[in-house]
Amino acid sequence: MVFSQNLLKWYNDNRRPLPWRQTKDPYCIWVSEIILQQTRVDQGLPYYEAFIKKFPNVEALAKASENEVLKAWQGLGYYSRARNLHHTAKEIAGREGVFPSHYSEIIKLKGIGSYTAAAISSICFNEPQAVVDGNVYRVLSRYHGLSEPVDSSTGKKIFSKLANNALDWHNPGDYNQAIMEFGALHCTPNNPKCTSCCIKTKCVAQLSNTVASYPVKTKKVKSVDRYFNYIMIRGDKGTFYQKRTHKDIWQNMYEPLLIESKKHLSKNGIQNSEGWLSVFGNGAEIKLRRSDSIEHKLTHQTIKARFWEARIDSTMLKGTSRLVEFKEPELKKIPIPRLIERYLECYSEPK
Ligand code: SF4
Repeated sequence: MVFSQNLLKWYNDNRRPLPWRQTKDPYCIWVSEIILQQTRVDQGLPYYEAFIKKFPNVEALAKASENEVLKAWQGLGYYSRARNLHHTAKEIAGREGVFPSHYSEIIKLKGIGSYTAAAISSICFNEPQAVVDGNVYRVLSRYHGLSEPVDSSTGKKIFSKLANNALDWHNPGDYNQAIMEFGALHCTPNNPKCTSCCIKTKCVAQLSNTVASYPVKTKKVKSVDRYFNYIMIRGDKGTFYQKRTHKDIWQNMYEPLLIESKKHLSKNGIQNSEGWLSVFGNGAEIKLRRSDSIEHKLTHQTIKARFWEARIDSTMLKGTSRLVEFKEPELKKIPIPRLIERYLECYSEPK
């Protein structure tokens, strides 16, 4: 097929020499694919290299503690992916470290969906399974001039069929990487390089001058604002953090005392809030000083965080509090959300 042959040739001439392209080890391909979901290659690359250095194989990852895995993932976001990687590594290690070699088996693993299963089975085991991700939707919708929304169930079926029809069965791994790389570097969301494109003579969108209209999407997911009041409680020995245990963003990561509210709270509002009273009780004399505000965007929510600094002696905490005082060296080992990391990077003593 001209489409796939042209893409393969383009890939041969233009692909980036990325470390996961020098291997067919399913563990490495799996880690790279999970990191690269929602993360650009230039951002994901240092994480991939550090992760593989720390956990070079599935057994090493299986043996690590959850804190170590989350710490290695810190800053990438989507921490459930790291937890699923860890969970699945333990499962594979329990099967003597043998990674399943068929799509139908790979897709049963926790945290692996159709895209990742297709990537692993085609790249590592030469199985003809087409990947369909945002890059593939964009290239195929433009090339075929298809205005079926890519986020509708009909659209997903149509694009999946088109992707499988276009697949080079002799070379599925390279073809899959070729179309994704082509979408990432050439047929980009903005300013695609149409004039130098190897498939421009057959590209419906280019021929009809409608490139910017593709891909079509229907759903606009609304973003919600959340107001986080963080209290950085400094004790005699260190800073107090607690683990987020509930099912929400950043599960099992550590954070300072959090008082979430419908809008930002004043000092009085904080000291009368349930979260504060449950930790300090009524009438505790604690100086609270406002520090920095940070806005942190996640996929479907914006966290509007305000930080407050408090100094206490640890006897002021109620015995039921889940807060634990971490000394400076220990703090470096616990996984914290990027938002908290950003605060620590710019923190300066309040005036
Ligand atoms: S001609 Fe333009 S829109 Fe069409 S595939 Fe090439 S880069 Fe994409």
